[in-house]
Parts: sequence; structure tokens; C-alpha cells
Amino acid sequence: MWLVKSYEMLIKIFSLHVLLNWGFYAHKMINYHAVFTLHEEVLDFYKEKKNIKYFVQKAGVPDNRKFIPGYRHEKFYHYIDLDFYDIDDSDDWKSVFNKITEKYNEKHGIVPWTIIKVQKELTQAFKNQSRNRILKLSVDIAHYIGDSTMPLHTTKNYDGQATNQRGIHNFYETRLPELFSKNYDFVVGKAEYIKNPMEVILTSILETHRLINTLLECDREVSKKMLIGRYAYEKRGKSGFSRTFSKEYAKAYHDLIGKQVEQQMCRAVKLVGDFIYTCWVDAGKPDLKNTK
Ligand SMILES: [Zn+2]
Repeated sequence: MWLVKSYEMLIKIFSLHVLLNWGFYAHKMINYHAVFTLHEEVLDFYKEKKNIKYFVQKAGVPDNRKFIPGYRHEKFYHYIDLDFYDIDDSDDWKSVFNKITEKYNEKHGIVPWTIIKVQKELTQAFKNQSRNRILKLSVDIAHYIGDSTMPLHTTKNYDGQATNQRGIHNFYETRLPELFSKNYDFVVGKAEYIKNPMEVILTSILETHRLINTLLECDREVSKKMLIGRYAYEKRGKSGFSRTFSKEYAKAYHDLIGKQVEQQMCRAVKLVGDFIYTCWVDAGKPDLKNTK
């Protein structure tokens, strides 16, 4: 019961900020909801006001690092072009792993390895009970996991450029969550311990990759039906008016694709919770009241 009460209280404190703040909207939603999958000892730490605020507000920071000199490899951390590795329907995570290892090319993205690397660092931060490191690395792992659940982060055709569907990337990962995710059901159950992280992450990426055909096909379908009205000019934040997919178009697309976006965001929420919980368990379940 206390959990429900404090959850409601937190919603009151943070929902306005979280829901009205533009930019990295989906990442922020994912981080916010992931906190509430955590077990009590971990939850207490993450739901502390300054901690949850950091975890949610900084959700987009790893993307900003791509532009900082000295972070040369950052841009490769956010995706993996599975199609570069000739993945087919018969593949499972193990054969995908082998195909990638054989033909490995950093330029085609390394998000699975990035997640595993940050997992180790976060485990160490829990061991050291270092509050700042725990929070920073939690943001990192949550961001990379979030990216890995976005189908267009798993293909060379990441913005529909090869299929004449430019703009689809931002439409799918920003416009749709901004318009519709308030009504999504983010109750995904409690965080669970992950025995084989690479298996979990590659299985998820493979399932995510298999959604791309539907994702692109729905865009073609709706485009055919709505020759006028695909774009509209809308005021966005401080930057003034900009061209974006119209609300009518977004609604028609969202109706056609069904629960795909919701399912992918829930997948991310669950994975973020599972990975953070796993790091904490692997660190020996430290008492987070003693972080410094
Ligand atoms: Zn990213």
C-alpha cells in the first residue's frame, strides 16, 4: 500500500515536469517507469527526489555526448545494423552473436556490447556505493537499452532513407510517444535477475529488428490513404514553428500499427529495471542508504 501511495505522490511531484518537458520524451518516460519496477531496497534509492529527478532529466545525455570532442566512439554505441550481418528468419540470438563476431564492424553499431560494458561499470559503482557513478551509469545503461528497443536503431535504413520514408525515425521515437504514451500501460511487473545478459539483449534486439517491416509498411499504407495532411507546422518549444508529421497522420498511423510502440517502450522499461537490479545483485546487494 505504501508503494501505491508513494507512487501517486511521486506522480504528483514529477509528472508535470516529465510530461511537459519536450525532448528525449520517450527516454524520460522509460526511465521514470523503470524506477517502479525495482525492489524495495533499490527502489528507495532511485525514488529519492533528487535521484529520480536526475535519472529522468538526464535521460538524453548520452546522445549529447556524440558531439563532444573526445567522445569519438560515442556515436557507435546507440545502434546496431543487424541487416549488415545478413540476419534471416531462422536466426536466434546465438547465431546472431556468431554472425556479428565474424563480420564485426564498429561502424555498424555496437549497442549490445555497450550495454554489457556499462552493466559491468554499474555493478562496480554499486560495489563502491558511489552515488554519482550509480546515477550517471544508470542513465547510460537505460539510454542504450532504450535505443536498442527502437526498431530503427537496428537497421541501416535508420531513417527510411532507402525506402523513401525520410523522417520516420523521429516520427516513431519522438512524435508518437509524445502524442500517445500518456495512455500506455507501463505496468510490467517486478525487475528480475538476468542470468545471461548477452542472450537477453540480443534476443530483444532480434525481436525488435523483426518489427521493421510492419513499421515501414504502416507508413506506406497511411501515406497512400492520406495524400494531403502528412505534415503540419506546429509550435515546438523555443525553436518556433517547425514542420512535423500532422496529428491526424500520427493518429492514423498509431491506430494501424496497434500496440507496437507501447510494447517496445514497455520492453525497454522492463529491461532497464532488470539490468539495474542485476547490477545491484551482482554487486552483493549493497545497502544504498550508505552511498556517498
Ligand atoms: Zn541514443
